[in-house]
Amino acid sequence: MSQVETHAFQAETREVLRLVIHSLYSHKEIFLRELISNASDACDKLRFEAVTDASLLGDDGDPAIELVVNAEARTLEIRDTGIGMGRQELIEHLGTIARSGTRSFLAQLSEAQKGDAQLIGQFGVGFYSAFIVADRVDMISRRAGSNEAWRWSSDGSGEFTVEPAERAQRGSSVILHLKPEEDEFLQAWTLKSLVRRYSDHIAFPIRMAKPPAAVEDGEAEDAEPAAQPELEVLNEAKALWTLPKAEIQDVDYQAFYKHISHDFADALAWTHNRVEGNQNFTSLLFVPERAPFDFQFDRDQRKGLKLYVKRVFIMDASEQMLPSYLRFMRGVVDSDDLPLNVSRELLQNNRQIDKLKSAVTRRTLDLLDRLAREEGEKYLQFWNAFGGVLKEGVSEDTANAERIARLLRFASTKSAKADELHSLEDYVARMPAGQKAIYYLTADGWAAAANSPQLEALKARGVEVLLLHERIDEWMSGYLREFDGKPMKNIAKGELDLGDLPDAEEAKKQHEEASKAAAPLVEALKTALGERVREVRVSQRLTESPSCLVLEEYDMALHLQRMMRAAGHDVPAPKPSLEINPQHALLKRFEAEADGERREQLAIVLFEQAQLAEGAPLEDPVGFIRRINSLLLAA
Ligand code: ADP
Repeated sequence: MSQVETHAFQAETREVLRLVIHSLYSHKEIFLRELISNASDACDKLRFEAVTDASLLGDDGDPAIELVVNAEARTLEIRDTGIGMGRQELIEHLGTIARSGTRSFLAQLSEAQKGDAQLIGQFGVGFYSAFIVADRVDMISRRAGSNEAWRWSSDGSGEFTVEPAERAQRGSSVILHLKPEEDEFLQAWTLKSLVRRYSDHIAFPIRMAKPPAAVEDGEAEDAEPAAQPELEVLNEAKALWTLPKAEIQDVDYQAFYKHISHDFADALAWTHNRVEGNQNFTSLLFVPERAPFDFQFDRDQRKGLKLYVKRVFIMDASEQMLPSYLRFMRGVVDSDDLPLNVSRELLQNNRQIDKLKSAVTRRTLDLLDRLAREEGEKYLQFWNAFGGVLKEGVSEDTANAERIARLLRFASTKSAKADELHSLEDYVARMPAGQKAIYYLTADGWAAAANSPQLEALKARGVEVLLLHERIDEWMSGYLREFDGKPMKNIAKGELDLGDLPDAEEAKKQHEEASKAAAPLVEALKTALGERVREVRVSQRLTESPSCLVLEEYDMALHLQRMMRAAGHDVPAPKPSLEINPQHALLKRFEAEADGERREQLAIVLFEQAQLAEGAPLEDPVGFIRRINSLLLAA
């Protein structure tokens, strides 16, 4: 009876494999870095499990990695004595992609994008990169502590097989049957230089057989083949973060970043610190250049900050050591003080961990702060990738609220485009004498914000207004109450207070007079609109538009109400007030209109226009068209 089982790859896996093979071909040598990274992770895991169960080490010595070339069979083997995998693990880890959002990400790719290495690299590449250079890949693995070994094998098209195998040591071997044109990866010097370039500071030794000493002509026949070829260590095998900063070059940091993050792109910036005192630890923290493809889908994704204790990898402890709003950070924290057998439970509610967490937070904010001050372009790149996540910090981390507020960037009425951004500090520096508050407007999208009628009067006075047009902004602005001692004021809510701006007094007086003069007009509109509005009043905000909708100070913004309702939440629906501009011709027309029915039509159209300007869908679009047409024809 054959013991070979055949399994089909999950559909997404097949597609990712195909894309990786085709689009990453021009960067084919990354397969070695990826497979060595996996081997190093497996060695890390073994070392951790062996802390509590030394028997796992058996007679197989310290975990290490070895490259084995078989020139005749044209195979390259990446062998590790790490944790290994059992049958089920082989099937699950190497047959499926357990990342939510993969399917929709793939569906969105255009044909051109499918060839874009940077884009496809967002998958994190990993094990499947083996198929860039190999037309068949075998993985033979034996889980530490078990006697069984298994062989996983595939040509990377649709299926893979799993069958029992022999393996003397614990750990895994990835055997690449190289494609005909990939002979270079059988060359010792190619492998050596790739290891130096990409994997020098992996903490485990990477060994390879020394090439046989050059033999004299004629002696070759008699030469005894060596029983055990002599091995040489190809890499430094010292964990990068343990080295003095002065000895580390940027390329080393970048190679190490790729090793821990499996990112295809470079890191944007990093900070490397050794702290000695009450607690001794080293942190090496990286800001990625861009978000992984599933970052948006997987809000709970908290991966990428590795906790080591005295050089021994303990676990991914992002959840314990990174606040949620900094979940994009990648890196390593190595503590000298925590116990080696630290468990997940112990990490919860642990004062030492809390201290590490605030240190990581502080270092990260320092790094972002430095980028913002010294490398504006890089900071914008960071902001475009992760600004939306950082904004969550405004409510999440009140202790650092001021620092986070300094890192925020917004569009404003001084921006010609949505991506022309300003800091709160810049805004405050530009505030004219007499302006007391930081004015802002929230809206659903840049266009709705930039064209909002609410802005008219402030624009006419040359007062800058921040345009908060992203989804999270409405919620965030609820927590961002002030900056630099100046209150934040939403101009679409409550009375518009012009503070001590020039002519504020005069404007107030004019407004009172206009309100008095328009009292009958306001009354008539109120009657016509009835239940639709809370109130009708003369606006201080409008100069060009006839009308706009205004909420009370603590009402939830209209677009947010709509969003919450669409998501199935039961939210209160406070009625907006209608503000009018009595100088506008439409209101003059309303006043002059003698026909009762037409008067009512005009009143409702004024309300509906204000809804449209705010981005709201109309309750009765057909009625709106009928009213407009009837008014047009009467004109
Ligand atoms: P990732 O490393 O991003 O999870 P990979 O496709 O590279 O994705 O690997 C999938 C999984 O297979 C790994 O998470 C790991 O559990 C397992 N794996 C890969 N290589 C090895 C190895 N050499 N030893 C043990 N497990 C491995």
